[in-house]
Amino acid sequence: QAYSNASKHVAVLAFPYGTHAAPLLNLICQLSDACPDTMFSFLSTQQSNSSTFQMKLDKVKPFNVWDGLPEGYVFKGNPRDPVDYFLKAAPGNFTEVLDEVVAGTGKPIDCLITDAFYAFGADIADELNVPWVALWTAGPRALFVHVDTDIIRQQVGTNGPQDKALDFLPDFSAIRVADLPDGITSGEFDAPLLALFHKMGPALSRATAIAANSYEDLDNTVVNMLKLRFNMYLNVGPSNLVSSSTVNDSHGCLDWLSKHEPASVAYISFGTVMEPPPQELQALCEALEESEFPFLWSFRGSPEKQLPSGFLERTSSKGKIVPWAPQQKILEHPSVGVFVSHGGWNSVLESICGGVPMICRPFFGDQGLNTRTVEAIWGFGLGLEGGTLTKEGAMKALKLTLRSQQGKQLRDRIRPQKELAYNAVKPNGSSVENFKTLVKVVSNN
Ligand code: UDP
Repeated sequence: QAYSNASKHVAVLAFPYGTHAAPLLNLICQLSDACPDTMFSFLSTQQSNSSTFQMKLDKVKPFNVWDGLPEGYVFKGNPRDPVDYFLKAAPGNFTEVLDEVVAGTGKPIDCLITDAFYAFGADIADELNVPWVALWTAGPRALFVHVDTDIIRQQVGTNGPQDKALDFLPDFSAIRVADLPDGITSGEFDAPLLALFHKMGPALSRATAIAANSYEDLDNTVVNMLKLRFNMYLNVGPSNLVSSSTVNDSHGCLDWLSKHEPASVAYISFGTVMEPPPQELQALCEALEESEFPFLWSFRGSPEKQLPSGFLERTSSKGKIVPWAPQQKILEHPSVGVFVSHGGWNSVLESICGGVPMICRPFFGDQGLNTRTVEAIWGFGLGLEGGTLTKEGAMKALKLTLRSQQGKQLRDRIRPQKELAYNAVKPNGSSVENFKTLVKVVSNN
């Protein structure tokens, strides 16, 4: 049955930055399979839609909303700038297109699904008088600190000591103020994204359900606290284990990996938004060159221009650098021994599912919190001394993870998590059961 013949209509509002829209579309595709009589209108920016929609889908249709950028806008390097412009245009840019979609299809909205960042989803759903489902695409701990921002501010103040532990929250004593995302105790509180985060907690308590890209057994204490705050908190992930996306390996990464020993290769990727600053790229290259570990690097930008001169030639027998890599498959490949990452949530989940320990260099948002959690709570990865890449620090971390007994211990600790993640998505697994509940919410019965 095609899109406009369906009897029910779900509107989906995506967050077009970082890796948010892709896991939301994965969930929508799953819902579309489970709700055959429903059409989904997926609203995001043109840029986001064109990279997220790899193929035409039967009953999920993309619609473009304005990105809010002023005419002639030039990106100056701060990833928050375009986000803040976009949020100044929201939710008007969304509701305008929503009205057009409803007028064009003649199908009123029966349910609203949004990225959980969109606190304004509560009001839109109220106005439409439909259930609101919010998808939280990051980890439970990151949601918890946003929801409990006022309590954290009361305890540690704003702009206070960075090394103070959050020991007043259950299972947070290993987390320090320095690990918190921008906007909790420091940052420009009035900036659109940070202001939206502050509104998110109270708004989400009005959501019919919150779906989360995680699984019940990961950070269970925090998950249980979240369940007490919300009407329905449903872990339906890990998204990478439930999606059926096709593998694009046009650069031959998997064949290349197959030529290497088990657990010998460092896979490097800092996500879709960031690449380390020049001096850290230099340090990482020196560490790779000197330590001689084989490496596979998914690099944003131009390696010829940005990496030290001669590096590519000198390391051509050891390393492979590509503009995009099939990361999930790479992390599942037995040759990969460590993941040098920015600590993005999707990367953390994919590392768990691959059973690969992490070395994290976080940049912004929840990445610092994820890094600290991986290192100090779950114990299957490392942060870096001083939080940034130095030659010595990177060499030490690579040797530890790839060569030492401690590296083996990191692997031993990640293995049970991998098993729990896989169990969650088996028939009758917790994420599968939670998904069934979500289907009932979305189909209104
Ligand atoms: N990714 C990929 N190939 C690449 C680089 C990234 O498939 O070469 C995917 C990766 O598998 C993950 C996502 O991009 O699903 C990155 O998400 P994450 O939350 O880690 O970071 P963000 O992009 O939001 O900073």
